[in-house]
Parts: sequence; structure tokens; C-alpha cells
Amino acid sequence: MKIDQISPEAPLKQESKLAASKIASATRPVRVGDVNIGGPGFAIIAGPCSIESREQFLQTALSVRSSGAVLLRGGIWKLRTNATSFQGLGPGAMGFVKEILDETGMQLVTEITDPRQIEILDPIVGMYQVGARNMYNYALLKELGQTRKPVLLKRGFSALIEEWLKAAEYISTGGNDRIILCERGIRTFETATRYTFDLNAVLIAKKRSPFPVIVDPSHSIGQAEFVPALSLAAAVAGADGLIVEVHPRPAEALSDGPQSLTLEAFRDLTLKIERVLGALERPMLKPLEI
Ligand code: PEP
Ligand code: MN
Repeated sequence: MKIDQISPEAPLKQESKLAASKIASATRPVRVGDVNIGGPGFAIIAGPCSIESREQFLQTALSVRSSGAVLLRGGIWKLRTNATSFQGLGPGAMGFVKEILDETGMQLVTEITDPRQIEILDPIVGMYQVGARNMYNYALLKELGQTRKPVLLKRGFSALIEEWLKAAEYISTGGNDRIILCERGIRTFETATRYTFDLNAVLIAKKRSPFPVIVDPSHSIGQAEFVPALSLAAAVAGADGLIVEVHPRPAEALSDGPQSLTLEAFRDLTLKIERVLGALERPMLKPLEI
């Protein structure tokens, strides 16, 4: 299905008039479990960059849920620039990850790096994440078009907004239009930050596509101390949500420690987001009561 064939109106009719009036005119909400992304509520997805152990993942999951995260992120397969860096626990993590999802009632957002992982991941995944490095992996996107799970499509760090939207069509053409876009920073001449946060892209992607658009401030700026400010800016600018990296002990993280929020910093951030959204009369989605 092409983007312009997807009716932006259809799902909105199911929303209350009040709710529909508060969301961006053409955004079609995508449901992940019980979480409706792209509706009136702002969705917070949080968790570690990599799932490192049962203890680390469970501690993070329980904490981020109590702080207001509605979905849990965690990498099982990692695409690292260095071939010798930690590559993720892979299938060895499946057993305890499933137990933690059952225990917390949370849905998992995890990166898929190879179409052959669909069979293993499908039973546990709530939403597939396509990483920046795979935005152009059309074979992977086509396979995800055949699944019925939502897909979080990150923008390639050198991709034009148009290329990103066209990549989404590789998924929707296969029949899966449950797509959420994620701006995660682009490569520019600037080296003081890991990437350059492109808030422009959020506005344009929301205007030009029916898909909800969220941001990933962690990978954009690459420094934990600045993640809250970017998160608040995105919430005010009208992003549909945020995906943020959180680790109980960032200094010991096997990947992306410098940009990972502590459990306490994450709690502080969600409180601030809720206050800022309140001033805009916009709700923050709340985790389910277990
Ligand atoms: C990640 O989410 O940990 C990740 C590797 O992100 P990106 O693909 O945006 O670099
Ligand atoms: Mn990461």
C-alpha cells in the first residue's frame, strides 16, 4: 500500500471527537498491545540499549514502568560499528526476556537486524525496531511488510526525509501499515554531539505521512545530561512520543552507557514531561496497572 492510499481518517473515526481534535490532523494511531501511539497521548518507551542480563533487564523494566514508560525497549541483537564490540545476547536471552515481559505486563520494542530473526522474535516482540543502519535494507523492510506486528522505523542517519518516508512504503506495500517513524539524529558537519537532532524532520514527517512520529534523543545527542532537554523540546513540538535509553548503572553498560539515563534521571524526566504536557493540555500515556 502506498502512503497516499492509507486513509488518515479511518481510525480517527473511532476516536472521540474531543480526542481526535487534539491530534495532528492526519496522524493514524498505531496500537502496540494496549498502547495507542499517535493519538492524543504522548508515549514514552524506555529501557536499556542492550539487554545484558536477567537482573539488569528486570530492574530496568520495573523501574521504568513505575516511572511512566508504556513500552519497554531492549536490544537482543546489536549492530555495532566495531565488529568486536558486544553484539547482544541473541537467542540466549529469549527465555528470561519472555518471563520478564510476562511479569511486568509490558510489550517489548527490540531491533531486528536480519529477516531470519522474525521466527525467533515474533512470539515475544510487541513492536519491531528497524535501526538507522537498516533503514535502506529493503529485503528486511519487505519481510516486515508481511508480518502483522507494528514496526518502528528509524531514520537512517544520512537519509533524506523523503527517503525515510519511501522506506516506510516498503513495509506498507507488503500490507503492514502499522508503522511508527523515529527521528534519531542525522550526520552533519558537527562533531560536538554524536549526531544532530533534527526536530525539523518530526514536523515534516508528521505533515507528509499518516504515521505517528517519535524521537530518540539518546542516540541523537549521545550525552545523557542533554537527553531531558531534547525530550521536552520534542514533546512541546508535537512528537507522538519518545524512545530513551535507561540503565541502572550507565558506567557499566555494555553499549551506549554515556547516553543512558539512570533510573532516577528517567523518573525525573517523566515527571517533567507530564508537567510540560499538562500545560499544553495533552495527556501522557500511563502504564497499565498490573
Ligand atoms: C539503538 O536503538 O540502540 C540503536 C542502535 O539505534 P540506531 O539504529 O538509531 O543507531
Ligand atoms: Mn543504543
